[in-house]
Amino acid sequence: MTAVTLPMEEDVLETTAPTKTSLLGTYKRAPMEFVKGEGVELIDADGKRYLDFASGIAVNALGYGDAGIARVMSEALSSGMIHTSNLYRTSAGEQLADKLVECSFASKVFFCNSGAEANEGAFKFARRWARKIGTDAKVEIVALRGSFHGRLFASLAATDRPSYRAPFRPLAGAVSICERDLADLETALDEETVSALIVEPVQGEGGVRVLDSDFLERLRILTAKREIALIFDEIQCGLGRTGHLFAYERSGVVPDMLTLAKPLAGGLPMGAVLVSEEIAAAIQPGDHGTTFGGGPLVSAVAGHVLERLSDPTLLESVRENGAWLGEQLDAIARRSGKVRAIRGIGFIWGLDVVEPAGDIVKRGWDEGILLLTAGEHTLRILPPLVMDRDDLVRGLSIIEKIIAQ
Ligand SMILES: *Cc1c(COP(=O)(O)O)cnc(C)c1O
Repeated sequence: MTAVTLPMEEDVLETTAPTKTSLLGTYKRAPMEFVKGEGVELIDADGKRYLDFASGIAVNALGYGDAGIARVMSEALSSGMIHTSNLYRTSAGEQLADKLVECSFASKVFFCNSGAEANEGAFKFARRWARKIGTDAKVEIVALRGSFHGRLFASLAATDRPSYRAPFRPLAGAVSICERDLADLETALDEETVSALIVEPVQGEGGVRVLDSDFLERLRILTAKREIALIFDEIQCGLGRTGHLFAYERSGVVPDMLTLAKPLAGGLPMGAVLVSEEIAAAIQPGDHGTTFGGGPLVSAVAGHVLERLSDPTLLESVRENGAWLGEQLDAIARRSGKVRAIRGIGFIWGLDVVEPAGDIVKRGWDEGILLLTAGEHTLRILPPLVMDRDDLVRGLSIIEKIIAQ
């Protein structure tokens, strides 16, 4: 009998003292512990269900327990090769690169393991190319006000969040942040010293801001004229989230490099840098590397995810449901009187709320919904791209209730 009660006591200890953990305290975690995922819901240790309007931060585009991902993963595992290193050829990564090239502007692809790594890789490729066409002074990287590009030294230097940056100075040099203003950019983007401009076509962490097609077009003209690489960071807004496979398709503005990560491998860690022919031509063996990037297992899963996310029917449903979502959020904003503004497109929306957005997220846990913030006063929603209208309706009614509380 005691053998049965002992582990139960341990369980109780765990759930009543969630702060007691050996994990380094880089995250303030929610108190519930998830044990299962099903469709567009996560289930905690008490059996309570949470409707997922966060997608593990834009990762789980196909939701949880997807049969296609499970099938492809087990097929890939049957080869016995999870990893071989980039010293040898394996077909899954080559096929995935082919697919990404076919469906985009790019001529070559570099695989890595996260978003920050993808951006750091893009910065290196930009400098390599810029030194080839310019002088040793053409090294600066410029990012925009409100940007988020990652937490490593150069990607953090390109991230406009003082609290993330301040404790870690000095950050990588020759990386600066410029206002989202054409006149300021005209001055900042000096042809002699700047190698790259990095832009999120839809700024995510910085508050969900859809950049104007017109603005992007002007940036394209300016950077092309001055031989500055235009990098689109589509780590959050790419791969179907806007209702287009790539966010740049909406504006018709084609970058020189594009970075991907979050949803790419269905929750396995993977990043990618898509590179134009001209920049690819500047890259030599030995210029960059990664032990894990583009291994056979992650690449096989990503190949499947890419196929699913490029399905025109899925993309059309994200566009239609996304437009409807915008109307509903607008109506909620007007009825509540507690929302200052809403912004977004497709399945990425931000609501500027009067109270701290984190308080609404917490009330969401009680009501069985998972939401995100994007800065202190912006509530952010990123549902799985497969979420249907019924579940969206269910989530919206909870959101309306917890905003009003
Ligand atoms: C999440 C994110 C990153 C960083 O990705 P990690 O995988 O966390 O390193 C970079 N850029 C954007 C736009 C993101 O949303």
